[in-house]
Amino acid sequence: MMGGVGPNVAVGPALVQAATKIAGPEQILRVIADAPGLGRICRAYKIVKNHIRCWRGLMPQVRIIDISVPVETGMFRFPRPDHVTVSITEEGTYEKVKCRTSRILMGSHSGTHVDAPMHVVRNGQPVDQIALDALVGRARMLRIRATPRQSIGREAVEARLIDEPRIILNTGWDRKWATDAYYVDSPKVTEEFAKLLVEKGVRCLVTDVPLSLEVHNIVLGSGCCQVENVVGLDQVKSDKVYLVALPLKIKGVDGAPARVIVVEGM
Ligand SMILES: [Zn+2]
Repeated sequence: MMGGVGPNVAVGPALVQAATKIAGPEQILRVIADAPGLGRICRAYKIVKNHIRCWRGLMPQVRIIDISVPVETGMFRFPRPDHVTVSITEEGTYEKVKCRTSRILMGSHSGTHVDAPMHVVRNGQPVDQIALDALVGRARMLRIRATPRQSIGREAVEARLIDEPRIILNTGWDRKWATDAYYVDSPKVTEEFAKLLVEKGVRCLVTDVPLSLEVHNIVLGSGCCQVENVVGLDQVKSDKVYLVALPLKIKGVDGAPARVIVVEGM
């Protein structure tokens, strides 16, 4: 097809024209490989490419999954007056001060948040003093499908591997977030379940189901922290993940809203 000898000649207009008429890169490679002088280069290229493909196949796919609810005006909250209604309003405007700023009113337990021991323990640790290694690190997900009001007992822990100090409880109840049923009909994590977790050295319990005051007392009373109101746990395919739950660093407070993510494949 080509009369030339150097690579510049070999990939000349006729070859380019031929390449545009064919479908994929594999065929383009085959056409180039037929060109005099380029066969050896192409074979080497193919070998390197196959190695890269193979290496990619061996590498686990890293996925970052956000399991926090968005914070917005009037968002769903625990139905008691001490849990404030979130409101976000504009303060500075482009017209007045040439930039925009906002006032954000929220509770320490609004949306996805971290409960510090101080939430139920007098003189307990506040949220800004929770050790970061309780909130960040490898976590085990417990998938325990529960029906409305069903008790989640000790046996649910006994039947599962608790091999990380951070536990994510996935009951599937997050589908009821922002509905009346969320607090009223939720599956019940029992005190026995909570006791066994803390006995096993769990330092952070992440849940998609609201916890009773009694369970708060056991978990937070042991110095373990809680992350409540997480959603979307079914997007997470692996049961062993990397957790990042970082509450706002608000000094001396009982809890704080948090952006919570899990990373798979790390
Ligand atoms: Zn809370």
